[in-house]
Amino acid sequence: MSGAARVKREPQRTCVGCRQVRPKAQLIRLVRQADGTVVIDRANKGSGRGAYVCPSAECVGEALQRGRLAKAFREKAEASVELVALSDSLRNGVRRG
Ligand SMILES: [Zn+2]
Repeated sequence: MSGAARVKREPQRTCVGCRQVRPKAQLIRLVRQADGTVVIDRANKGSGRGAYVCPSAECVGEALQRGRLAKAFREKAEASVELVALSDSLRNGVRRG
């Protein structure tokens, strides 16, 4: 019954797919570029508004639904080719075997 005082506070973010709140470190960060294209922020240094999604085919798929990204960014937003490809690769990974 000790150690409660030393709880590590991890930043938490909401997944745009399933709407669950998760530790930021476990989520994929998405950033909206000036032209409205939403890309994966792999380096985690993109400036501006970010959105987060679980690294799962379901959540990325949800995020790619029409209007989801626009809602998350509160602006017109479109998934980049890269983001669509991520969705595909996650889906293939899950279904294989
Ligand atoms: Zn999710």
